[in-house]
Amino acid sequence: MKYESTRGSKLKKTGPQAIIQGIAEDKGLYVPERIPALPFKVEDMAGKSYKEIAFKVMGAFFDDFTEEEMRHCIDGAYDSKFTVPDVVELKEAGGAHFLELYHGKTAAFKDMALSILPYLMTASCRKEGVTDKICILTATSGDTGKAALEGFADVPGTEIVVFYPTGGVSRVQERQMVTQEGANTHVFAIRGNFDDAQAGVKNIFNDDNFAAQLAARGVRLSSANSINIGRLVPQVAYYVYSYVKLVERGAIKAGKPMNVVVPTGNFGNILAAFFAREMGVPINKFICASNENKVLTDFIRTGIYDIRNNVREFYCTNSPSMDILISSNLERLLYLLSGRDGDAVCNLMEKLDNDRVYEVPAAVREALGVFYGGFASENETLDTIGKMWLNEGYMMDTHTAVAYKVYRDYVRETGDAETPTVIASTASAYKFAESVSAACGIGPCNDGFEYVAELAAATGIEIPYGLRDLDKKTVLHEGIVDADKMMDAVSEALR
Ligand SMILES: *Cc1c(COP(=O)(O)O)cnc(C)c1O
Repeated sequence: MKYESTRGSKLKKTGPQAIIQGIAEDKGLYVPERIPALPFKVEDMAGKSYKEIAFKVMGAFFDDFTEEEMRHCIDGAYDSKFTVPDVVELKEAGGAHFLELYHGKTAAFKDMALSILPYLMTASCRKEGVTDKICILTATSGDTGKAALEGFADVPGTEIVVFYPTGGVSRVQERQMVTQEGANTHVFAIRGNFDDAQAGVKNIFNDDNFAAQLAARGVRLSSANSINIGRLVPQVAYYVYSYVKLVERGAIKAGKPMNVVVPTGNFGNILAAFFAREMGVPINKFICASNENKVLTDFIRTGIYDIRNNVREFYCTNSPSMDILISSNLERLLYLLSGRDGDAVCNLMEKLDNDRVYEVPAAVREALGVFYGGFASENETLDTIGKMWLNEGYMMDTHTAVAYKVYRDYVRETGDAETPTVIASTASAYKFAESVSAACGIGPCNDGFEYVAELAAATGIEIPYGLRDLDKKTVLHEGIVDADKMMDAVSEALR
């Protein structure tokens, strides 16, 4: 299986090459030259473990790896770091199936991909004979940063540098990152928002001079953001797994479609669901849920992507991991929906850079019909958490609550209450303890960490091991830099 760029470059890469590189030479993102079909019949997978399904799904995309190599990656990644018996859990509540993806080390779904990416990266370097040190550059809206740090900490031959927006992440998220141990880990707050961090990282990737300087020092850059195809492919597995489980439990008849609801920021997670559908998993609607930064809701409804300052403000919300206006992975969707027209994608991305607005052609707009877009305000989010806890005894974090609220809107608007629906549950409520406590009438407390303890006392839900005693850990990273000084920070960190 080869990988091609969304911007039309004719240079195809192998899976391992695409993983090492992160972003294509023409600034596009890598996509497989065709989406592979499911390598099994869903009915035959009943009773199979998460690891078994992931092995088959990922193997179909990354066929350059031997079975032995892929097994090694999967066994290393999905071990006892995950605290539930089968890596993820699918739980029923409030008329939906919640796919809990947050039982890993950092208590967010980012662990699903970032616990395996370091294995894929190391195996890729070995395959390609790359002996340079790989420096992973990461912009984070809160969860990717910590998951990438945990994944790459002390992995030989790598350095990891993370940038997060000051004031743009929760107390717990920040504390998780700045207390990270590992000699190869570097964490910086930037003065700016997530879009600034992501743009800064992309600029560093696209700077040929900087790449040459680093090459002279035996270093090359790669990405742990969802622009890296090695992030996306592992995420396809859990949508396939959900469908298998629904069939196995008799919640759905094999061949009948499910809906998928995803709280969306950079469009990576929902794109993984789209890949699953292209593989052959029957999916009726992709319900794309946003917070007040609802650029995607408007895009899905109008075909116009508009982030002009006079049209849209950037809001810091209680679901900070979705406080994003420039959704990188939308580029991959546009590429697929436009019949792999790299020139057309190039055009749209240039418009976005220059005019901060673009409109897709009619055919793409029509193809967007499998998506439903909606959003939740901060108050609606809290209200949704409170009611679900009170009525169903089921706890959601703020991001998952955005998804559930938008799902209820979808049902009301379309009348489709019958299609079994899987909601991607993306984080532990404890990561956003302050907001979740407020939603459940707990507090006020003096300090962000007191909320964690109070929430545990009030609900009896166990605190994820990665979030315990965070307030007692030593702060090891205190750097704060301007958004236009990120390159210097990387250069310094690598000294
Ligand atoms: C990253 C994140 C999201 C958004 O996922 P994307 O793949 O960026 O769309 C949603 N919820 C949580 C908790 C996250 O950490």
